[in-house]
Amino acid sequence: MKTIEPFIRLITEGKSVDQLKTAAQTEPSFSTIYPNSIHQADGAILFLVKDAIFKKLLIVGDNTSLYKEFIGEIRTSTSGLQFKEAKLSVANSRLIRKYFPFTNPVSLASKKATFGLGDRLGLASPGHIRILRQSKANPILAQQSIRELNLTGRNYAEVLADAVWAVFQEDFQAGYGADGDHLKTPVEVKMALDEGYTMITLDCSEHINNVAADDLTAIDDLYQKFPTGKLREVESAFSGKEFTLKSGLKLSFTEQKLKLNVAIYQGAVDFAIDIFNTLIKTAANPVDFEISIDETMTPTDPAAHYFVAAQLVAAGVKINSMAPRFCGEFQKGIDYIGDLAQFEFEYKQHEQIANNFGYKLSIHSGSDKFSVFPIIGRESGGHIHVKTAGTNWLEAIRVIIAADPTLYREIHEFALDNLATAKQYYHITADMNRIPKLNTLSDEQLPKLMDQNDARQLIHITYGLILQAKNADNSFLFRDRIYNCLHDNDDLYCNMLEKHIGKHLQLLGLL
Ligand code: ZN
Repeated sequence: MKTIEPFIRLITEGKSVDQLKTAAQTEPSFSTIYPNSIHQADGAILFLVKDAIFKKLLIVGDNTSLYKEFIGEIRTSTSGLQFKEAKLSVANSRLIRKYFPFTNPVSLASKKATFGLGDRLGLASPGHIRILRQSKANPILAQQSIRELNLTGRNYAEVLADAVWAVFQEDFQAGYGADGDHLKTPVEVKMALDEGYTMITLDCSEHINNVAADDLTAIDDLYQKFPTGKLREVESAFSGKEFTLKSGLKLSFTEQKLKLNVAIYQGAVDFAIDIFNTLIKTAANPVDFEISIDETMTPTDPAAHYFVAAQLVAAGVKINSMAPRFCGEFQKGIDYIGDLAQFEFEYKQHEQIANNFGYKLSIHSGSDKFSVFPIIGRESGGHIHVKTAGTNWLEAIRVIIAADPTLYREIHEFALDNLATAKQYYHITADMNRIPKLNTLSDEQLPKLMDQNDARQLIHITYGLILQAKNADNSFLFRDRIYNCLHDNDDLYCNMLEKHIGKHLQLLGLL
């Protein structure tokens, strides 16, 4: 912190924010200061600085109420200048949101393209902002499912706080969103909304019945469980009818096809309507509502997509985006597996349905799906939401491989030993026998592992176990070392994310 003294002197001499930014950018001894983080409010100057293990917020202006409000230690420099040193905590992030409204997440419903960037470590957003600010898409910087929260040991307040600090650090004023991802219950939705999340992705999977189209008895049983009134309603709306979309696409429902759709999706439709009416419509601020029906056994038939959407729209639900399950496989952290022509054929139909009702299609597990991005970019015309998460963690692993290969080797062995546990909650088809044995690889060869699908999936799905593993004395086995390594190499991590997420955006036609 020795170099801070002359910088604080500049502030007390009354230099403007612009002059301070220039000094931070050009003076080598100020290299630990994040230039874009220098802000002024209430007569005080605030900025972020990179310390040995953490980033810290420094505040100069001891006669202001802002200075008194932030929680931190009062420091006196060698020449008697006073400043406050504050942690990048949740409580302080709430004060940043109060004094700098641009750091609050907002609804992005009016934006044509949005891009979800799950950041499991809470370190990736600066890199994400640097590339997204050059693109046509607005970022959803905070985006976590309950599963991810459990696996990383974080909560919604912490996830949002990390995004707030990144937005402040990078001075990103174009607007970002916060997505309570894959929420399944009213309690979960409420928890995310109470923390200020501006997007809710409702996971309807627990209200979807995975019944086979030829299992007529099961379909009939499920059908009859709905109240007669509800059944008469859907029958009169769909049975024996053909619908022509604005694009000319025709979708029709025979009596049996309607029964099948009711059996599979009616519970999800009723659930989504209920959540919308009780929690989304009544929320204090606008909420971007996404309906997720992607976690099913079989791809979503276009008619089924229409069946769900038409009922939601008729019930007054304002859909911001919808995630059907597309054909082929969208496995975590690797490219699309499947028939591209078939994908294009079906994607076009889903796009026409989304267009018909005016919402965006949402592409889940969008990490690294490079072979389908050109199709998605073209057919959506850039009106799209794409979610990524795991790939940002894998880029962090690339940094660790480069900076601390010994740590990577330990992580890799641990992941292999614990793979069976991780497979209980992530579906992958990786074959561990195809991963080269670590002891046959030199440190220089290690980076290649992150280009190999089986190794990518191994490290991808074990992230929670890696981050939570403990030693006998209850200290973390890897977590602190991972955070320290990424802190020491934060520029490298930013650069890798810019490049890698940039590739996603470019292929989607958004950059
Ligand atoms: Zn999903």
